[in-house]
Amino acid sequence: MGTSELDLVIAGVLSGDRTWIAKAITLVESTASDDKGQAVEFLQSIAVHTGGSQRIGVTGSPGVGKSTFIDELGTYLTEIGHKVAVLAVDPSSSISGGSILGDKTRMERLSTNPDAFIRPSPSSGILGGVAKGTRETMLILEAAGFDIVLVETVGVGQSEALVAEMVDFFLLLLLPGSGDSLQGIKKGVLELADLIAVNKADGNNELRARQSARDYQSAMSLLTPETSNWASPVMTCSGLTGQGIPAIWEQVKLHQQLTLETGDWERRRTNQQIKWMWALVEDRLIHSLKEEPELTTAISATEIEVQSGSLSPFAAAERIIDLFTRG
Ligand code: GDP
Repeated sequence: MGTSELDLVIAGVLSGDRTWIAKAITLVESTASDDKGQAVEFLQSIAVHTGGSQRIGVTGSPGVGKSTFIDELGTYLTEIGHKVAVLAVDPSSSISGGSILGDKTRMERLSTNPDAFIRPSPSSGILGGVAKGTRETMLILEAAGFDIVLVETVGVGQSEALVAEMVDFFLLLLLPGSGDSLQGIKKGVLELADLIAVNKADGNNELRARQSARDYQSAMSLLTPETSNWASPVMTCSGLTGQGIPAIWEQVKLHQQLTLETGDWERRRTNQQIKWMWALVEDRLIHSLKEEPELTTAISATEIEVQSGSLSPFAAAERIIDLFTRG
């Protein structure tokens, strides 16, 4: 890509054009080394237009109703004048090559909504793990004028922590159940949640959902909240009927207002920038280590020694670092 084409991508993204947005996403997701410099230059150029959105993470087990919920919440938000981008961080796509998330057809209304943009989860095998490119894509969509970014992830593995580290507000969807059923959920995930919504509170489930919201609330009161003056509320909602969705949005706005006043909002973003920097450093170092032709043979030989047990992983790591820093 030449300089003039890069200018076109920048202008195209700033104008909100979907074709250019897609090109820009391809550029930042690209692992080709000649694109790296361009991706950095591009992100630098759009930097002043980024950061202005409300970034919201949505997590929950498969089947809890995430896509139905996001379809409903996103539609509601566009109706009250917002432009909504939906991104997915899908741990399954990098492990098995399959995908639990990100299928456009799962969000029927949003996928044809002119004020919404849905980015399916990145394809499998992208270097740097499941969140690779998600933050960069978020910046592109902010520059393109989307003022709300919803980042969806499935509640398994470590993806929740990754997503919590890139958003201002983290929402956990649960199904109605007893307070005991919270024990199956990792404490860490509960602590990350800025709000818990007991979903599918409709029809025969409505009363049960309200009861479990009370149960969950008392279980939650035993945890230390992530933000000092915010006790994460437990609410009920239905992605299917829309019940409770505006009330949840009110809480998101309230949280933003409060954290802006206390400085927690700014602190959270700043900490995220530092974590992101280190994630990129790690990513680049590992990448250049594995790409270095002179080192690949030595690394393979070292791996064999570790496999056979003749070299400890500790000594092997020392050797690799040594080779790398000398090279
Ligand atoms: P995801 O795997 O978390 O994205 O869940 P989906 O949104 O795909 O929903 C899983 C199933 O639950 C589907 O059969 C939906 O129709 C159903 N579902 C989703 N939301 C609701 C809801 O609010 N109420 C009811 N009753 N069913 C729902």
